Amino acid sequence: MAYSYEAPVSQTLFDRASLVTPGGVNSPVRAFRAVGGTPRFMVSGTGPYLTDADGREYVDLVCSWGPMILGHSHPAVIEAVQSAVARGTSFGTPGEGEVALAEEIVARIEPVEQVRLVSSGTEATMSAIRLARGFTGRAKVVKFAGCYHGHVDALLAAAGSGVATFGLPDTPGVTGAQAGDTIVLPYNDLQAVHEAFQAHPGEIACVITEASPGNMGVVPPQRGFNEGLKAACAENGALYISDEVMTGFRTSRAGWYGVDGVAPDLMTFGKVMGGGFPAAAFGGRQDVMAHLAPVGPVYQAGTLSGNPVATAAGLAQLRLLDDAAYVKINDVSAQIQSLVTDALSKEGVAHRLQSASNMFSVFFTGSDVTNYEDAKKQESFRFTAFFHSMLSQGVYLPPSAFESWFVSTAHDERAVERIAAALPAAARAAAEATEVSA
Ligand code: PLP
Repeated sequence: MAYSYEAPVSQTLFDRASLVTPGGVNSPVRAFRAVGGTPRFMVSGTGPYLTDADGREYVDLVCSWGPMILGHSHPAVIEAVQSAVARGTSFGTPGEGEVALAEEIVARIEPVEQVRLVSSGTEATMSAIRLARGFTGRAKVVKFAGCYHGHVDALLAAAGSGVATFGLPDTPGVTGAQAGDTIVLPYNDLQAVHEAFQAHPGEIACVITEASPGNMGVVPPQRGFNEGLKAACAENGALYISDEVMTGFRTSRAGWYGVDGVAPDLMTFGKVMGGGFPAAAFGGRQDVMAHLAPVGPVYQAGTLSGNPVATAAGLAQLRLLDDAAYVKINDVSAQIQSLVTDALSKEGVAHRLQSASNMFSVFFTGSDVTNYEDAKKQESFRFTAFFHSMLSQGVYLPPSAFESWFVSTAHDERAVERIAAALPAAARAAAEATEVSA
């Protein structure tokens, strides 16, 4: 389908990019494959706005997939970065910035007694799983279909949602051996978890779950699910790993742990804690973390881990995220959520707007979504029409129906008004969409 709203400079850049980079992008979802059309090449960001290479401004509801919780180019973050850069960009030695960032994380999140800094969420989950295997001396890992934990080989297995289904690699390049110790279960299904532990006594090292999933759209844990995971792990000598790369420092001061209070053995973080730079972390119980090199035998390392510029950006951002900031983000998120659902209801579009604190997404379906199978039943072609209408009116949504939307403290009244103004036409486009037109 052709989109009336053209982006000639972005298209030229995309053509150039496609010659030298597979698909023209450095992370697949950016290519707009799920919605079609030309990916927008952004040149600058200020507060809640992004400006593309064609000079068009958008209200940004992606926020770099979560990190930009204070909006773009926040003066305090920029100043911290400039001051760090002026002192040097990497030393390959310990530095005070990484200590201060670790202290901030430990102070905010009670179950995190010690933390190790890394450079991406993928590295954080990969390392946490290695540590869990090293600590327990067991091989198997339980994950849930629809939960994304980065592109860790063993965690790219999501095939088969039957009880105790052995993971099949989701992508060529991941061997059966790499995925063979992964057990993929349906999300929000505690019975399946108990059955997996019964089927594999003494073999499961850990259960890893998104603290509140945002990677199949927003599908919060049902009441008691996370508590049940923790209890099942404790009963069976496995570790409970809560992946807070997306929810960490976003859904509250202490992330999703601050919402449900279920203390994991290990946690993973990224996105917000890097202030827009590559910084991530994993941490948890001191006795488990003590198994990491150089104290213990489980090896893990990184040339740029704890990078002084990244840690300065992350620390500056976290220090501004006080209780008042979360009240503000939650409030603006709630406003946008009700505007979206009102607009769609007015046009008679069957949908479910699901939220977890200030994270939310819209499923184009008439039924509640509690797991990945439900999420896949939505009419994604309606999202495509909705997305392009919003884009053409200057509102940048995640280019996929299976992603969370993100807001920031910078989303002010003017930004909300622009979203409100765009919604009626987008809702109409969703109502009128047919599978063929998408
Ligand atoms: N875990 C979760 C819950 C995520 O949402 C992501 C990325 O979106 C990751 C891990 C991987 O993080 P990164 O993209 O920094 O490797």
